[in-house]
Amino acid sequence: MVEASEEVYSSLYRRFKGDLLRPGASGYEDARAIWNGMVARTPGLIACCSDVSDVQNAIRAASETGILTAVRCGGHSLAGFSTCDGGMVIDLSRMRQVTVDPEARRARIAGGCLLGSIDTATQKAGLVFPSGVVSHTGASGLILGGGTGWLTRRFGLSCDNVEGFTLVTADSSIERCNAKENPDLFWALRGGGGNFGVVTEFELKLHPLTSVVLAEGLSPEADIRRLLECWRDFMAEAPLDLKWNIDLRVAPRAKKVPTALRGRPVASSSLIWTGDPEAGRSYLQRALSMCNPDSVSSKIVSFLNLQTMADSDFPHGRRYYTKSGYFTYLDDSSIDCMVEAVATMPSSETQIELAYLGGAAARIAANDTAFGDRSAPFIMNLLANWSDASGDAGNISWIRELFNQLRPAMKPGVYINFMSGDEQDRVPEAYQERWERMVAVKTHYDPNNFFRLNQNVPPRKLPLP
Ligand SMILES: Cc1cc2nc3c(=O)[nH]c(=O)nc-3n(C[C@H](O)[C@H](O)[C@H](O)COP(=O)(O)OP(=O)(O)OC[C@H]3O[C@@H](n4cnc5c(N)ncnc54)[C@H](O)[C@@H]3O)c2cc1C
Repeated sequence: MVEASEEVYSSLYRRFKGDLLRPGASGYEDARAIWNGMVARTPGLIACCSDVSDVQNAIRAASETGILTAVRCGGHSLAGFSTCDGGMVIDLSRMRQVTVDPEARRARIAGGCLLGSIDTATQKAGLVFPSGVVSHTGASGLILGGGTGWLTRRFGLSCDNVEGFTLVTADSSIERCNAKENPDLFWALRGGGGNFGVVTEFELKLHPLTSVVLAEGLSPEADIRRLLECWRDFMAEAPLDLKWNIDLRVAPRAKKVPTALRGRPVASSSLIWTGDPEAGRSYLQRALSMCNPDSVSSKIVSFLNLQTMADSDFPHGRRYYTKSGYFTYLDDSSIDCMVEAVATMPSSETQIELAYLGGAAARIAANDTAFGDRSAPFIMNLLANWSDASGDAGNISWIRELFNQLRPAMKPGVYINFMSGDEQDRVPEAYQERWERMVAVKTHYDPNNFFRLNQNVPPRKLPLP
């Protein structure tokens, strides 16, 4: 592999406009790190592309040598797919241009953008693109996997708001796709992850919004069960303007947390209301009535504040492990299981994240995009978060055990962006009846599985010529 990366370097260095970083080069160590500190790899070459022709050259050189190649936008792959040992990383972090057309409510973003760069540019025109909840997340990985966030119920998934893609495929050619051009590829890219090529530009649909009402509160351990039962029933009837996320966790020992709750298991509710604040008041009050009154707050926040408020909760370099799934209905025994689990969390940063989707995301037909399940509204993400390698075994086994207990009540299916790197056997489950079509598109565009560091859809084996 080391020889292969040297060969790729030699074939690239004369024509490459960005930087080619080999181990030992200045900037290599910083460029090597990805968000999940559990995944520390040493690539043989990091190709920091400056434009589309750099991406084409990197793909061409890599496929000629057969070197293992990872693709990186923001480096937030929970599974750690955006790096590798010995091989090459195509790093898009120099390609972060965002162009907004306020009249048409459209934007074009380059393949290396972080969510924050999109929000900053679109808010200048009073517009939003529905994406994720942490601004340092990469846009490409998030959108290609689906993309859920505060605005999913109101405006749909991120991938539902993409009108076109430009990508470099495994044979290094440039393809465009949209509803009319290469429609199969357009279908597959909306949920299919990085299986089909390196997306260098996304054409996005935007919506007017500059602020929301944000309401937050903590429910003590004794009230979590009642809160979850209420949330489960309440959200089924809730208007699209309401998004209510609940994290089950140990409350931080922070000043803003009521003394009685510090260091104790709690349910942390975060709600947003995207409509007229008056119209949302009764919904928010009802939800907050199940929280400790000293922990409750409700205020209008700018969209940019909303999008950055969780940034410091998920810092780069900590150790993370995740497992996720959908529920059609959150039954009482699943609720009991979660409530019991909070009391045994091995790390105080670990969370059981619960969100209710539905709304605009559920109005798109199941087979209109490759994205996983739209019919099961409850999405659960078990996210372990700890700092020291000595905690690896305990945190990982805690997640696995809880997942196995909850699994029988879940609806088969999984959101590929909330999967770990050890769940390749669940990838067909993510696509279900869409699997054969995914395999066909993969076989057409990437018959040798050049793009395989992802939640992989292997191509069909082609007969020898
Ligand atoms: C702190 C944090 C918060 C998150 N919040 C949310 C959230 O609110 N909603 C949500 O839906 N998800 C969320 N996620 C999950 C997130 O969607 C995935 O981790 C996603 O892969 C991150 O994208 P990235 O570009 O940073 O990933 P990277 O690690 O850069 O890439 C991941 C994979 O995406 C593919 N890829 C990346 N760029 C390209 C490209 N230009 N062309 C083709 N393929 C590419 C490659 O296969 C690559 O292996 C979050 C993750 C983290 C770590």
